[in-house]
Amino acid sequence: MNAHLLINSSYLLAAFLFILGLKRMSSPKTARSGIIWAGFGMGVATIAAFFTPHLGNIPLIIIAVMLGSFAAFVSAKKVAMTDMPQMIALYNGMGGGAAAAIAAVELIRVTNHGIGDYTLTVIILAVAGALIGAISLSGSVIAFAKLQGIIRTAWTFPMQQVFNLLIFLATLVLGYLIVTQSQDPAGISGMVLFAFFALALLFGILVAIPIGGADMPVIISLFNALTGLAVAFEGFVLGNAAMIIAGTVVGSAGTLLTQLMAKAMNRSLANVLFSGFGSKETGEAMDVDGSMKPIEAMDVSVMMAYAQNVIIVPGYGMAVAQAQHKVWELTKLLQDKGVNVRFAIHPVAGRMPGHMNVLLAEAGVPYDIIADLDEINADFQSADVALVIGANDVVNPVARIDPNSPIYGMPILDADKAKNVIVIKRGQGKGFSGVENHLFYADNTRMLYGDGQKMVAELSQHIKEF
Ligand code: NDP
Repeated sequence: MNAHLLINSSYLLAAFLFILGLKRMSSPKTARSGIIWAGFGMGVATIAAFFTPHLGNIPLIIIAVMLGSFAAFVSAKKVAMTDMPQMIALYNGMGGGAAAAIAAVELIRVTNHGIGDYTLTVIILAVAGALIGAISLSGSVIAFAKLQGIIRTAWTFPMQQVFNLLIFLATLVLGYLIVTQSQDPAGISGMVLFAFFALALLFGILVAIPIGGADMPVIISLFNALTGLAVAFEGFVLGNAAMIIAGTVVGSAGTLLTQLMAKAMNRSLANVLFSGFGSKETGEAMDVDGSMKPIEAMDVSVMMAYAQNVIIVPGYGMAVAQAQHKVWELTKLLQDKGVNVRFAIHPVAGRMPGHMNVLLAEAGVPYDIIADLDEINADFQSADVALVIGANDVVNPVARIDPNSPIYGMPILDADKAKNVIVIKRGQGKGFSGVENHLFYADNTRMLYGDGQKMVAELSQHIKEF
């Protein structure tokens, strides 16, 4: 078998494994094996690339692969579940950066040795991939810095969008110059190439910097889609089928996820990109009536043990407290007493898509008692107790009733409609959006103050003693 056929067959196998992996990732039951299949596909594609005819610098490539694998292995082992979005932002940025670097190398080659075999279309694709990849790299780094708390504010200034547009247009003009100069025997000007990459990176920063924290997941997902597109374009440049297929898959999956998340937050993508969450002009927020009413763990355990239907709403605080194992223990104790317990999962609960599903799966909670917002929302009315553990924004009724609220229109879990609502949280801390939660002041709500894990353990302890 010649090298060409071997490489292309391996890429086809890799593409099959990527798609199989992605398919299996769509359900929590099969997601783990999906990751393994996709990783296996990546391994096949990486090994096949070593058989590329006339491949040079093999020792350097091996060192780079080993360093990258080691860094990824160590950081993935160490990362806390709550820091996962930052890590994804960073990895994603590196993908975009890698695509831009490939384009840079190829364009420098054209500068030094002329256009060679490259057609005009390939040069256009290289420039487009470089632009998108560079934007994704610098934007993702800003997203990382924001989620990590290194950058704490959404930075806005007058005429920002006009300024951003001018920078973008200037980058496009430079890109156009690169394409035309590539056809010229004098070659591409080094200054133009440098300015093009500098402005593309600057534009990525400018896009991400005004975006507030609560919109960050949508932006990370958008950069993810862009990275996929950049990789696919560079795949055309290198004539690498695996890159084209993997990039297209990432690009389309990222686009769908971006749309889903924007929908879950009831925002259009344009609104996310151009309005700056929380900085948009809104009227006076509604006043809250009543007060927060504390309750003791003992009283909550009695209420739950004698309930028929309990719905547990986990949120970011459950992840911080790492309370998922204790929550499952509590669930089993209640089930033993004949209580029907189910979990209600909001699409943006926690800090990444599927965050709660992952934690509950890790604790061993069976999937058939976990329900999505659409499946369970109507059932809160017949729930005796809604137990909210470290969730805030995703159960804030203000999203339904106050048109002046920044979260107005976001679909929420209707926990407030349960007969009794118990909220476990440590104190008066606000949610990610910083909006006051009217649920905590409602007549049917009682606050069980304390760390999520500790309070759930106390509830279990009391129930065991009955
Ligand atoms: P929120 O961020 O709205 O609220 C979390 C609550 O948990 C806080 O009010 C806090 O109150 C409480 N808390 C924190 N630590 C603990 C602890 N150890 N024990 C008990 N409670 C604790 O969480 P939600 O899950 O309701 O909402 C998610 C928010 O994050 C949404 O606004 C969403 O848009 C945003 N987001 C979502 C992402 C995603 O993809 N899922 C990614 C990034 C942001 P206190 O301090 O008083 O304890």
